[in-house]
Amino acid sequence: MKTHPLYLNGQWVQTQATIRVLNPATGEPFAEVCTVERPAVAQALADAHAAFQDWRRLTGKARGEYLRKVAGELERRRDEIARTITLENGKPLAQSLGESAMSVDHLRWFAEEARRAYGRLVPHQTEGKRHLVIKSPMGVVGAISPWNFPLVLALRKAAPALAAGCTVVLKPASATPLCALALAECMEGAHLPKGVFQVVAGRAADIAQEFLENPLCRKITFTGSTEVGKTLIRGAAAAVKPLSLELGGHAPVLVFEDADLDAAVEGALITKFRNTGQSCIASNRIYVQRSVYREFLDRFVRRTSALKVGDGLEPGVDIGPLINEEGLAKALGHIRDATRRGARLLCGGKHIERKGWFLEPTVLADVPADAACMAEETFAPVAPVCPFETEEEAIERANGSPYGLSAYAFTRDLSRTFRLMESLEAGTIGINDGVPATSQCPFGGAKQSGWGRELGIEGMDAFLETKHVSLGLGI
Ligand code: NAP
Repeated sequence: MKTHPLYLNGQWVQTQATIRVLNPATGEPFAEVCTVERPAVAQALADAHAAFQDWRRLTGKARGEYLRKVAGELERRRDEIARTITLENGKPLAQSLGESAMSVDHLRWFAEEARRAYGRLVPHQTEGKRHLVIKSPMGVVGAISPWNFPLVLALRKAAPALAAGCTVVLKPASATPLCALALAECMEGAHLPKGVFQVVAGRAADIAQEFLENPLCRKITFTGSTEVGKTLIRGAAAAVKPLSLELGGHAPVLVFEDADLDAAVEGALITKFRNTGQSCIASNRIYVQRSVYREFLDRFVRRTSALKVGDGLEPGVDIGPLINEEGLAKALGHIRDATRRGARLLCGGKHIERKGWFLEPTVLADVPADAACMAEETFAPVAPVCPFETEEEAIERANGSPYGLSAYAFTRDLSRTFRLMESLEAGTIGINDGVPATSQCPFGGAKQSGWGRELGIEGMDAFLETKHVSLGLGI
């Protein structure tokens, strides 16, 4: 079994301590990754701070050239990196290829954005003064990423931070550190100066504490659970450390009677089952207007039952394994809880008896509002469906969650579309669209789904300090 070194200050560094990486399709380890403790993280931050001095001085155009080269490296190694995503995360290979392609697109988008960190000249109110607003890179960024999209979510942080002129120390999820190391190889292949991008692994709470307490780390960007997000908020209070937080979600899907029902079924299917249901923007509650409820359920169950489950490396697989045993146990618990409260199990519902952590894609109908799956993220291929009567009721139920990451609606009514756009409490809204995220538009959550936005122009702004310069010219 290969032991992968960490990428620190331009060197591949072996350490004694390691973590094992498991293949969720077999439950067996297939690689090890070196880990470090706080002093090494402090050193990485110091090296990142040293590298920042030159990196920030490059023109945006020059930093963009580096990012374009990283994109080229990633594209060249697309097949191999997609295989790594599937091996450590379990998702079907076609989806890993999609994740690699989106990662390349993020890099190219931010390579362009690097030259657009515009400031502005503000008209003065006092004779002899001029006012400039300029944008400067914040400094060293501590980035913490999750396992569910191990490559693309790391890049939603690294690409804009590097474009802005910041340097990055990335801590990937312990379940999926290999993609981050492959990304470091691409950074090395693109000849990024040493210390500009580094990868650490180890005990998450310790690494985060170093990011929080070390004054050289000027910004923390985190994607993961709301629970850990709250811990970071508490920790950041002491140092007043700026945080960007991409946290949990509990997306509703609203299917109205005027919708194109085929499009609604396909849209609900992709929002629910992509990434084996382990997506922050996965639909967790599907509300269907009563008049089309039965028809929707018939079609949705037919399509769900036809999904192929298996090892993500097998051709034609739609649903891979869950990330680990706890993920599987949580999903089975949610199914049991919903049926005990009166939900009807229309398909799936069982653990598949084979190595790894496989669950049959599941549809539950008439799920009561007090079922656990209607409030908590299931993070699995489990689709709870319930009927609604009116648009007002649908909006009220959709918004009845502490989360607000994404929401979806299927309708052909333009006026309703605008009412939904304006009233749904979510950072991303897909109207007749189950795959809304794209490089050039902001992505992030309302309410307890987070602070700030990634992607789009907002994505780079998250790593820029806004400064007002008042010039006394005496003219
Ligand atoms: P998680 O347990 O919060 O872990 C996310 C990252 O935080 C991992 O790198 C993890 O490291 C680290 N971490 C764990 N404990 C920490 C601590 N005390 N302090 C600082 N960092 C800590 O979440 P997950 O299970 O990986 O990911 C699933 C969650 O992420 C879901 O809630 C999902 O909705 C959310 N998510 C949100 C978005 C979004 O854009 N809003 C996108 C994807 C996922 P270890 O792996 O070493 O424990």
